[in-house]
Amino acid sequence: MANDDKFKKVISHAKEYGYVFQSSEIYDGLSAVYDYAQNGAELKKNIRDYWWKAMVQMHDNIVGIDAAIFMHPTTWKASGHVDAFNDPLIDNKDSKKRYRADVLVEDFREKILQKINKDVAKAKKRFGDAFDENEFRSTNGNVLRRQKQIDDITVELTRVQEESDLEGFKQLILDLGIVCPVSGSKNWTDVKQFNLMFGTKLGASAESAMDLYLRPETAQGIFVNFLNVQKTGRMKIPFGIAQTGKAFRNEIVARQFIFRMREFEQMEMQFFIKPGTQKEWFDYWKDTRLKWHKSLGLGEENYRFHDHEKLAHYADAATDIEFNFPFGFKELEGIHSRTDFDLKQHEEFSGKKLQYFDHEDNASYTPYVLETSIGLDRMFLAVFSNSLVEENLEDGKTRTVLKLPAVLAPAKAAIFPLVKKDGLPEVAKQIVEDLKWDFNIIYEEKDTVGKRYRRQDAAGTPFCITVDHDTLKDNTVTIRHRDTMDQRRVRIEDLKTIIKAEVDVKHWLMKM
Ligand code: ATP
Repeated sequence: MANDDKFKKVISHAKEYGYVFQSSEIYDGLSAVYDYAQNGAELKKNIRDYWWKAMVQMHDNIVGIDAAIFMHPTTWKASGHVDAFNDPLIDNKDSKKRYRADVLVEDFREKILQKINKDVAKAKKRFGDAFDENEFRSTNGNVLRRQKQIDDITVELTRVQEESDLEGFKQLILDLGIVCPVSGSKNWTDVKQFNLMFGTKLGASAESAMDLYLRPETAQGIFVNFLNVQKTGRMKIPFGIAQTGKAFRNEIVARQFIFRMREFEQMEMQFFIKPGTQKEWFDYWKDTRLKWHKSLGLGEENYRFHDHEKLAHYADAATDIEFNFPFGFKELEGIHSRTDFDLKQHEEFSGKKLQYFDHEDNASYTPYVLETSIGLDRMFLAVFSNSLVEENLEDGKTRTVLKLPAVLAPAKAAIFPLVKKDGLPEVAKQIVEDLKWDFNIIYEEKDTVGKRYRRQDAAGTPFCITVDHDTLKDNTVTIRHRDTMDQRRVRIEDLKTIIKAEVDVKHWLMKM
């Protein structure tokens, strides 16, 4: 399936099977705002739990908090968001479409990279076993020319961003001959900066109201609580504070379903460390977070690191874990070495000391911070889009199956009576009653069993369990596996153990 078609299929499947709905759909929706439906809410919760268990429960030096969305407005002065949380925007005068100038340049650069990869793949095919990829990449004229173009773009993009050179930004877009994907024209406006924070007001009357922002990231709720948590939890450095929660950004361009939303959820962890150890912890968290992703089995080839050339004002190292979404490799998670920037800024703006007394060194210092920050919605999209497959079956038919990692699946099993009579529904309902203490279970009795299997395959349910007439005689049922379609006969009393073996968090996290 072409990538565009695949993405459309993902979006329509998410709606059809109760995963994601457009917000306020009956009023024609709200741009880049989405609601999670009955299955989506479960999948999202399971992803959040999987992250929380790995980060908080399995680390005795990481604790979790739940800070408010509203924060004192000075927080955002101190963090730099009021002055610097901007994106460069540019409009195409013909299509009237608005773009992020940096994304236009990055997409252009990515296309050149794809051309190189195509050349390499072609050569590989042509030369077979004798092919030396490194040699080809370092000697082939076309590849070298394109690589130089990529490097030149990167240098200039970094420069215009670092120097906030908006004229230079526009010139770069013109020099590269970038056209608007909609109108195909190069008729661009100047580049302008645009602040991404949503403002709101707190207070009963217009005169006394206080200007507030909806938080654009969850991280600051952790920084301002650093000392409270450290003291009350008697935490010793190194230690981490984790939280999950909503964040809000007035994104300029938000056209990629739940990849870029205006209201989204983050799962962040700030790890407080001794200054000077940041390189070591940066490598540790890069490695640990990638292992977490890989434990879900979405395919190792679908991840890559992208180290930042342009560092944010607070960082001394940063990388993204990129995932191969239906529209290509894009950021899924950020890992940032944030130095002591945030704590120092909050010390300065609040006038309160935010230092740690190290008993071993008998000295106080402002800790350095390593951050891991992942978008829950992007993780949802990664899991969902990767799991959706069309399979060709031996009988020439196709089947749509949502191969969600079983640990994340909204319902773990569906129980069917073969027919709606002869006491079979009663037995099936009793199985539901017994299993629902441990798992999310579905009961279905409509349509043929074959149709029910297909519906559950497409909804992502890992097991289907059918009660038939033999069940009444020997207390056994048929259990069918979503991915292999294998069916076997098992005792009712063994169902819990069989299901648990595949859906248990431990089984999955042990792979890390
Ligand atoms: P991008 O470059 O894609 O705008 P970012 O670098 O601004 O992302 P961070 O500020 O590092 O993102 O946020 C951490 C994580 O939060 C990202 O890796 C992403 O998964 C998620 N995220 C950020 N913005 C959005 C959004 N508008 N919608 C959904 N998830 C988002």
